[in-house]
Amino acid sequence: MKSPNIILLGRSGSGKGTQAELLLKKFSLVNIDTGDILRSLSKRDDAFGKNILKNISKGKLVPLWLVIYCWLDQFLKISSQQGIIMEGSPRLLDEAKILEQVFSWFGRKKLIVIYLKTSEKEVTERLLNRRICSKCYREYSLKLTPSIKKCSYCGGKLIRRHDDYPSAIKNRMLFFRKNIIPVINYFRKRKMLIEVKGEGSVEEIHQNILKKLTKRI
Ligand SMILES: [Zn+2]
Repeated sequence: MKSPNIILLGRSGSGKGTQAELLLKKFSLVNIDTGDILRSLSKRDDAFGKNILKNISKGKLVPLWLVIYCWLDQFLKISSQQGIIMEGSPRLLDEAKILEQVFSWFGRKKLIVIYLKTSEKEVTERLLNRRICSKCYREYSLKLTPSIKKCSYCGGKLIRRHDDYPSAIKNRMLFFRKNIIPVINYFRKRKMLIEVKGEGSVEEIHQNILKKLTKRI
């Protein structure tokens, strides 16, 4: 089986991070995390780094040319034998169109886009009930374990992420509707999209993804 190239899309709280991790292990993929690259570039002590920091700390998108730079820098480092997985990118329709060209330019013709489908209502509830360990960042759900007070791995204090409050969640849902839904529609029209329901256990969802994915690769 050839190593696939995957873009995983879904709302915040859809569990796409967890599913990306499972796919990464299953197919020995390399993860390109645009947010991580930007965060490390933002540490540069020059105008370039400071401008990135200014944007990301306000939750603003960085310019398209910078996103493309991050992608190319990573693509050039990855062996052509290895598949790539991206999660949380592209964030705009313009980014999606260019990213598709980048994959193709690198000879990665078979790009599969997975949409982990969840309703706004479902993920809002998940995010409101999400707590993370302040030390090891493991995630917990007050819905599944209502009485938990401390991290069961490291004993760290459980906290709410700063963007897991109602107004921030609402903004993320709006962003998704306005920007990511058009990206999904674009890939659907290009017949590159696989849609999987994001409800059920982690393992069930993973199996459903594999079932649809293996038909394509
Ligand atoms: Zn912990």
